[in-house]
Amino acid sequence: MVPTLSDTIVALSTPPGIGALAVVRLSGPDAVAITQALFSKKNLAAQPGHTLHYGTLRDPASGQILDEVVAALYRAPRSYTREDVVEISGHGSDFIVRQVLGALLRQGARLAEAGEFTKRAFLNGALDLAQAEAVADLIAADSALSHQVALNQLRGGFSDELRGLRAQLITFAALLELELDFGEEDVEFADRTGLMRLLTEVQGVVNGLLRSFELGNVIKNGITTVIAGRPNAGKSTLLNALLREERAIVSAIPGTTRDFIEDEVSIDGLRFRFVDTAGLRDNPADEVEAIGVQRTRQRIGQAALLLYLFDLTNMTPAEVRADLGEFTAAHPKLPVLLVGNKQDAATPAQLTAFTQLASALNSDSQLSTLFISAGQRLGLEELQDALLTQVRGAGLATTGAATIVTNVRHARALEAAAEHLGAVQQGLATGRGTELLAADLRHALGALGEITGDISSDDLLTSIFTQFCIGK
Ligand code: GDP
Repeated sequence: MVPTLSDTIVALSTPPGIGALAVVRLSGPDAVAITQALFSKKNLAAQPGHTLHYGTLRDPASGQILDEVVAALYRAPRSYTREDVVEISGHGSDFIVRQVLGALLRQGARLAEAGEFTKRAFLNGALDLAQAEAVADLIAADSALSHQVALNQLRGGFSDELRGLRAQLITFAALLELELDFGEEDVEFADRTGLMRLLTEVQGVVNGLLRSFELGNVIKNGITTVIAGRPNAGKSTLLNALLREERAIVSAIPGTTRDFIEDEVSIDGLRFRFVDTAGLRDNPADEVEAIGVQRTRQRIGQAALLLYLFDLTNMTPAEVRADLGEFTAAHPKLPVLLVGNKQDAATPAQLTAFTQLASALNSDSQLSTLFISAGQRLGLEELQDALLTQVRGAGLATTGAATIVTNVRHARALEAAAEHLGAVQQGLATGRGTELLAADLRHALGALGEITGDISSDDLLTSIFTQFCIGK
C-alpha cells in the first residue's frame, strides 16, 4: 500500500471507556480546518502552534453542542508526526467520543489505522524505524528496566552508532563498485587494509548487540526461576514473603493448571518469574494432572535458574545432596541457588552440618548456598542479592541498559549482517574478486539498513505498524 500523506487522519488516542478525559487526535494538512468546522469561540487557523484553545464543539450537521473541549494545536513540522496536529481533550465518555469522531469524519477526516500516527512520524523522518518500534515497547513497558531500555531506544539508542558505521561501509561499497566500472584495468580504489579494519569494528558492534539480545529478552519477558523442594520445605511461604518484600509488585498469575503457580517479582528492576514445582514428584492421579506435570517439566526446561529450597530442621545433608543430584543430572547447565529454610528453628548441630555441606558445594561455581527463614522473613535481602548475582554470573544481565536489543526483528537483521560481513572479511583474507566482495557488502548493508528503516519494504512497515494500537 502506498502511504498517502495528503489526507488527514483521526483517532481516539486515549483508552476507550469512561474517564475524566478523552483525547481525539487529528494529523494531516486539514487537521486545523476540520477541527474548526466543529469549533466555536476562536479562529484556530489564525493561531500559532504549541497553543491551547478552550472552545465548544458543535456538530455542523445538526447544530447540536457535543462537548466543551480544549484543543492543543501543533504546526508542521513541529509535531509528533511533523504534520499539523490537533489534540482535542474532551470528556471521557464513549458516547461523546463517537459523536465527535463521527462529526470529524463527515468533515473529511479518515479514521487512522493502527499505528498510523507513528508510521507518519517515521515516513516524515521524525523517528527511524527502531525508534518507532520503541514507542510500542515504551507503551507496553511494565518494569523499570524494560521502560529504561525502550526509552533509550526511543532516544536514538544504537541507531546512531549503526548509521555511522553503515555510512562508512557505504563509502567502501561505492569504491568497490567504482573498481568494477573500470573492469579490465586492474585498479584498486578501496583500501583493503582500511576496509578490513572497519569490518572488524562493525563486527564488534554487531556481535555486542547480538549478545545483548539475550539480556534484552530477559528484560522484556522476565527470568524464569524454578522453585523446587520437598513438600513443607516452605516454598509457598517463601514466595509470599518475596511478593510482600519486593520493591515493586508486578502481578501474580495463577497457573493454567492446578499444578503450578507463576509469580512475578521485580528485584532491582529485573523481573523474576517464579515457577513452583509443587506436585512434580507425585504420581499423577489423572490425565489433567499428568498434563500439568508435563507442562511444569517444560517450564523447568526453559528456566534460567533453579532455586532449591530445603528444610534445615528435617533433612540430612545426604538427602539434600541426593535431591540436588537428581536435578543437576536432568539440567546440567542450570545455575542453582541452594537455600536452607527455617533457620530460626534449626539446632546448632543442624546448622553446622549444612554449613559444611555448603562449603563443600560452593566450590562449584554454578551453585551458591544460603540460609534463610521464610516464615520470619530473615535473609530475604541476601536471597534477592544472590538471585541477582546468579543471573549476572550467568551472563544474563548487566547493570545499566545502554544498548540492548530487545526486538526479534533487529536480532534477525543483525545475524544476517554478521554473516555477510563475515563473508566480506573472508573474501578479503582469501583475495576474492571485487565483484563478490561488493555483493557481500551490499547484503550486509541491506541487513543493517533494515534495522533503522533506511531500507524498508511496504510489507515490513505494515507488519510493524499494525502491531500498534489505533490512535498511536
Ligand atoms: P511448601 O509445601 O514447600 O509450600 O511449604 P509451606 O510454605 O506450606 O510451609 C510448610 C510449613 O513450614 C508451614 O507450616 C510454615 O509455616 C512452615 N515454615 C515455612 N517457613 C518457615 C520458617 O522460616 N521457619 C519456621 N519455623 N517454619 C516455617
